[in-house]
Amino acid sequence: MTMNFFRAASSIALLTFFSLSAFAQNGALKWEPIQTEAYALLLDYLKLDTTNPPGNEIRAAKFFAAICQREGIEHKVFEPFPGRGTLWARVKGSGSERPIILLNHSDVVPHDKAFWTTEPFTPVEKDGFIYGRGALDMKGLGMAQFVTLLTLHRSKAKRTRDVIFLATADEEAGGLQGAGWFAKNHPELLGKAEFLLNEGGGNFADDTGKVLSIGVGPSEKTPAWLRLTATGAAGHASIPRPDSSVNRLIRALNKLLDYKPPMQLTPAVEQMFKASAPLRSATMRAKFENIRESLKDSDFLKLIESDPMANALLRNTISITMLAGSNKVNIIPPAASADIDTRVVPGEKLDRWIAELKSVINDDKVKIEPILAFDANASPIDTALVKAVATVSKRNYPDAVISYPVQAGFTDCHFFRELGIHSYGFSPFVAAPRQLGGGVHGNDERLGKQAFLDGVKFFYEVIAQLSEK
Ligand SMILES: [Zn+2]
Repeated sequence: MTMNFFRAASSIALLTFFSLSAFAQNGALKWEPIQTEAYALLLDYLKLDTTNPPGNEIRAAKFFAAICQREGIEHKVFEPFPGRGTLWARVKGSGSERPIILLNHSDVVPHDKAFWTTEPFTPVEKDGFIYGRGALDMKGLGMAQFVTLLTLHRSKAKRTRDVIFLATADEEAGGLQGAGWFAKNHPELLGKAEFLLNEGGGNFADDTGKVLSIGVGPSEKTPAWLRLTATGAAGHASIPRPDSSVNRLIRALNKLLDYKPPMQLTPAVEQMFKASAPLRSATMRAKFENIRESLKDSDFLKLIESDPMANALLRNTISITMLAGSNKVNIIPPAASADIDTRVVPGEKLDRWIAELKSVINDDKVKIEPILAFDANASPIDTALVKAVATVSKRNYPDAVISYPVQAGFTDCHFFRELGIHSYGFSPFVAAPRQLGGGVHGNDERLGKQAFLDGVKFFYEVIAQLSEK
C-alpha cells in the first residue's frame, strides 16, 4: 500500500511536470517530454495482467480512468460483466465534423512462462525493445491512442471533431463482452462517429529502416464458423452401417477437403494488391498494378496462390477444426458433427456461402448451421481519414506509398462498420523489420522502443490533421 502510494504520488508529479513542459511558448508541441511520458505510461500499463481468459480488463479501465480523472478528461468506466471493464473517454471538438473513435482492446492472450526470457507482466527494456505481454497486441497502440487524447486535451487547440477513446475488454475472445457489448448498448456515446481507428494496419520498411508503405486497412475477412451435423441409423458397431452418421460426416468432410472455393477478387483486396505494386520487383510491378487482368493468367495465379496469406485473401477458406462422434467405441451414434472455421471475403453473403457448401456436400442428411458469423463489410478508401494519413505520411516518410491491407483474421472493427462508421486498421509504428518487434500471441512479445516513440507522434499528427480547424 505504501509503495503504491509513493508510486502514485511520483507519477502525478511526473504528469504535472510533463504537462507544463510539453508546450513551447508559441503553443507548438515539444515531443521529447510527451514521448518520455508515453513511454513511462506504457510500462505501467504493461504491468496490468489482463490475460483473457479471465480478462480482468477492469484493471485497464481503472488505470486510464485515474489519469482522466486527474487531467479533467470526461470519461466513464463500464463493467457489464464481472471484471470485464471498458473505458470510454472523450475530448470535445466544436462539432462541425463528426467524431473519430480511437478503439483498442485492453485484454491480452495467455502466455507460457516456460518459453519467455522475461516476466510477461514485468515490462523491461532490452536491446532497444520493450518486452511485455501486450506490447504489440495491442497495449502499445492503445497507449499511442491515449497519449493522443491526453495531448489534444492539454493543448486546448480548437478542433472540429470529438475524439473518443475506447479501451475495450474481450477482443481476443470475440469481443462480445467488450466492443460488441458497447456498440450495442451505448451507441449514444459513439456520437454518430464518422471514423474509427483500430489495430489491423501494417507498414513496411526495408532493412535500412526506409519506410516503403503505410497501411490503412479498410476491410477484413469475416468468420463464418459452421457446424455440420450428420444423422443416420444408430446401432451396435458389430453390424456396420454404410450410411451411419459418422460415415456420412466423413464423406461430407472429404468433399470439403477436395473443394477449392472459386477465386473472388474483391474491390478491397484489389486495392491492396494495386497499392503494393510500387514495392514489387520491376518485372512484377506491372502485374500488380493490373491485378485483375493478371490473375487471368494461370501461371501468375498459381504463383499468388502459393502464398497462403495471399490465397486466403482471394477466396473463402475452410479449416476443419473440431469433430464429435460417439462417446463409446462400440456404438454407432445417431448424430456426428464437425465444426469448421470458414472465412469469407468482404462482401460475401452468409446464406449464399452456406448454399454453396450444401451443394458441394450434396447430402440432405448433413445439416449446416452457423455458430458465429456476421456480415462482411468494407470501408471506403476515398475519405478524409485516409487523406489525413496520406498527408502526414508524406511529411514524415516521403518515400512511402499508402497501402490498403486486408486482414485474413478479424478485429472488433466489424461491430462499428455495422453501425455505418468507417473503420480502419492503422498502426503508427514503423521500423526496419528486425527493429519493430515480435512475439504477438507467442513468446517474448516486444515492441521496438524507437518505433513506439515515433509512433506516438505519428498517431497524434494524423488525428490533429483530421480534426484541424
Ligand atoms: Zn489485438
